[in-house]
Amino acid sequence: MYLKSLVLKGFKSFADRSALTLEPGITAIVGPNGSGKSNISDAVLWVLGERNAKNLRGQAMEDVIFAGSSARKGAALAEVDLVLDNSCGTLPVDYSEVVITRRMHRSGESEYLINGTVARRLDVLDILHDSGLGSGTHSIISQGNLDSVLASKPEDRRALVEEAAGVLKHKQRKAKSERKLANMDQHLARVCDVVSEVE
Ligand code: ATP
Repeated sequence: MYLKSLVLKGFKSFADRSALTLEPGITAIVGPNGSGKSNISDAVLWVLGERNAKNLRGQAMEDVIFAGSSARKGAALAEVDLVLDNSCGTLPVDYSEVVITRRMHRSGESEYLINGTVARRLDVLDILHDSGLGSGTHSIISQGNLDSVLASKPEDRRALVEEAAGVLKHKQRKAKSERKLANMDQHLARVCDVVSEVE
């Protein structure tokens, strides 16, 4: 799975429809200060379900909508499409391409779509659950958090890498299975006690 393209319309400084096409591998976005580089990662975070405006460097969620400039008025809505290549089937849906859309009107109405069909935020989170991508994961590290990541303890940094690599979910499943096994051991011990009492 990889991020194939991102389409922004009325999102922050992207007043007009802007489409970014990405290739597999590493992509670097360069540009002068204030040209909108971080707005692009904000857009990714937003479409993945971010609910906290502060994590998008704003005061209120409405701040994601193009506010207008001296030359043009503000937008009525912000919309972002995130196009994921799913030809390897990482996401649990029968589509080789998954388009997640988030839209927000200035009136406050907001909606998500998955491949053009209206969906709930929960559906978006569900689809992304096992992919290592999603709001709350560390797939996006902001400039502000970079220092704390670099200064963190090796074990904490390792946990971040494991999360990004998708190892964490297997560790969580292993821990759950071990808890179940321990429970079963207790049940078995009780059954053995009962059997020895009866005999
Ligand atoms: P730097 O290299 O300094 O980190 P950057 O390229 O990451 O900069 P951003 O922080 O992404 O730049 O963009 C900042 C610009 O986006 C500012 O000019 C700001 O006015 C503009 N901007 C942010 N929100 C909105 C909005 N809702 N409407 C219009 N413009 C906005």
